[in-house]
Amino acid sequence: MSVSDEVVALFDARGAEAYFGESVSTLEHMLQAAHFAELEGAAASLVVAALLHDVGHLIQNAPDDITEWRTDAHHEVVGGRWLAKRFSAEVSDPVRLHVPAKRYLCATDDSYFTRLSPASVMTLKLQGGPMNSDEIATFEREPRWREAVSLRRWDDAGKIAGLKTRSLESYRSLLEATAAARR
Ligand code: FE
Repeated sequence: MSVSDEVVALFDARGAEAYFGESVSTLEHMLQAAHFAELEGAAASLVVAALLHDVGHLIQNAPDDITEWRTDAHHEVVGGRWLAKRFSAEVSDPVRLHVPAKRYLCATDDSYFTRLSPASVMTLKLQGGPMNSDEIATFEREPRWREAVSLRRWDDAGKIAGLKTRSLESYRSLLEATAAARR
């Protein structure tokens, strides 16, 4: 099975589900994140990272209702691992770091927290709240922390009901080319 077939199959199975606490589906949310990455002229690897940043949600079972979450499911770790087997670290690292990036932004950008959606505020607590100064220093030693912060902003932006984007099918060749670049 090709990488693009795997991705399309995962979205077919789970992508229509509502994106946790938001007014878009998981598929729409991930297409929108990729859309905003492309608008900013992001590198191909980072567009793929944006498109697949929540793949961890698609490959694991989480309760439908966000308020039922007792512990954080660490979808960024699950997703980062899945991506690392198929793509270079330029794709998997920003995904692995996209939840820490939220905690980072909450600690370093005053205007960021006030713009978070109610659902995102709720998960922040489960994710450990804003970073402390030691955590900030550790995060900034990650080789791709800046890319993770960019990805996080596209993730947060990708919650617009009815926004027109490219189709998932239209990303097949980009997915294959980016996966081939790893080998
Ligand atoms: Fe997301």
